[in-house]
Amino acid sequence: MVERSHCLPDESPSAVSRAALRVLAIHAHPDDVEFQCAGTLAMLARQGHTIMIATMTPGDCGSRELGPEEIAEVRRGEARRAAEVIGAEYACLEFSDLSITIDNDAKRRVTEAIRRARPDLVFTAPPVDYMDDHEATSHLVRDACFNASCPNYATRQWNPAPATEKIPFLFYVDPIEGTDPWGCRVTPHFYVDISDVFETKRRMLACHDSQRAWLRAQHGVDQYLDSQQRWSQQRGKEAGVAYAEAFRQHRGHPYPADHPLAGLLGKRFRATAS
Ligand SMILES: [Zn+2]
Repeated sequence: MVERSHCLPDESPSAVSRAALRVLAIHAHPDDVEFQCAGTLAMLARQGHTIMIATMTPGDCGSRELGPEEIAEVRRGEARRAAEVIGAEYACLEFSDLSITIDNDAKRRVTEAIRRARPDLVFTAPPVDYMDDHEATSHLVRDACFNASCPNYATRQWNPAPATEKIPFLFYVDPIEGTDPWGCRVTPHFYVDISDVFETKRRMLACHDSQRAWLRAQHGVDQYLDSQQRWSQQRGKEAGVAYAEAFRQHRGHPYPADHPLAGLLGKRFRATAS
């Protein structure tokens, strides 16, 4: 449960709240962002910030009926339509499902994506989660946020973007069901009250039609949209609101460790005591 003393008023000042920010949400597969942080993105979009959604893969293993190229094409379209709900851009880095590997080629490609997006805030996968694609994504994005600012680091990509001027704020979304692989609860650093925008988050996930049937077969989750609602309600219960999303922030050197979202989201930002 959130300590009341940690709840911040609407008028909390923040230097970053005075200008439009560039916000990048990058996760492994199409629909991961919609499950874990689309509500927060919707709120930031409503404030006029630039939102970019990226996935490492096009979800090419996400079907029992369609081949990898066919389902990938379907899912790029679903992800693009979900992003359009909040006026966000969508990009796919074109890795393959179950094959995201931490090597120099991957480091260069993800660093190039960060340099092109030039984000102030980044939301990405948690360092521990139920599958390797998610953990590798987290590691690569964390690494790329740092590497992107090093001018002598060459990405060897076509028409490379210049180095970034700063390391962005970095936030980790929830692992699935909020636990690590040993079943231990992951304690968030803060919650975002998304009650006002939950229907938008639901509409974004509803764009991923192909995955309702796939998840039912693979994971035994019968109701795709209802699982999103149950998890948002669970995090909301912990935060004392109807619906919430939970995050941890990368606070270690040399990433910025103050709370830009406190000023941006006011009373909807609820820090925990952790
Ligand atoms: Zn995923």
